[in-house]
Amino acid sequence: MKFIPTLKKWRLKRFHFNFLESDIERAIRKNEFLFYYQPEIDLKTGKIIGVEALMRWYHPEKGLIPPMEFIPLLERTGLIKKLTPFLFSQTMKDLNTLNGLGFKNLFMSINLSIKQLQDPPLLSIIKTNLKKYKIKPTNYECEITESEAITDLSADLKVLKKIDKLKLRLSLDDFGSGYTSFDYLRTLSVHKMKIDREFIATVFDHPKNEIILSSIIDLGHKLNLLVLAEGIETKEQEKWLKKQKCDMGQGFYFARPMPLEDLITFLKKNK
Ligand code: C2E
Ligand code: CA
Ligand code: CA
Repeated sequence: MKFIPTLKKWRLKRFHFNFLESDIERAIRKNEFLFYYQPEIDLKTGKIIGVEALMRWYHPEKGLIPPMEFIPLLERTGLIKKLTPFLFSQTMKDLNTLNGLGFKNLFMSINLSIKQLQDPPLLSIIKTNLKKYKIKPTNYECEITESEAITDLSADLKVLKKIDKLKLRLSLDDFGSGYTSFDYLRTLSVHKMKIDREFIATVFDHPKNEIILSSIIDLGHKLNLLVLAEGIETKEQEKWLKKQKCDMGQGFYFARPMPLEDLITFLKKNK
């Protein structure tokens, strides 16, 4: 069995590495990637209703490496496509484990990059794993961020519509950050809007920030979307967001991303 480091034993290293494509190719071959899971909370009830899968790289010499250190390179080089089978099989396997432990209604949310969307085997990988791990598609969510990687919007939209047809949920990540345009919202049946954590971090810095954030929440609701606030770190932020009727929250205030075994303990404690 692969050794999975626990949160207690490992701290993320906060310096930058320069990886080469060959490092990543080796890491893929040696199964050095793994997922941490961060709870998503229903702000009304305070209950955990889902988890987001966040990738980590367990490097044999450098330890646990956060995704921003390697995902951009994976995306730039197209190597991220090689991780698509792992992304779906590992997260669906882990959701199946959680279901088996009695957490039946929990949803799993994953991050899908545009490059992965543009890779033809994607749909068959999804279908195979849905079947293998007996996943209810409505309990599985793909988060997408609009980005400069979009080269052919209509082709991307076609794939997203096929994902939608499989009854998987689509969620718009980092809403309000640089790249957001309204094409996805207009064309797709998006289920959830995740508001970029920058808006939450700065909400009390200026009265206008409160107006902007509450207007984004309103916009989401008017479009019939569930609205989640990312990066909640304080009680005050939670209180304010509840007052604005924001549906869901995620952030260090509730829980940090953690390995599956720690998540199971956390879920049992917070049942
Ligand atoms: P994201 O999708 O916006 O994920 C949320 C990030 O915010 C996570 O960082 C999480 O640890 C962090 N976060 C959560 N709550 C708080 C908070 O209260 N305060 C602060 N300061 N941060 C918080 P992480 O795990 O380092 O991931 C960074 C980004 O890497 C993700 O941002 C996502 O864009 C990307 N990523 C992670 N896993 C994958 C993956 O499997 N595939 C792809 N394509 N991208 C991934
Ligand atoms: Ca995300
Ligand atoms: Ca996000």
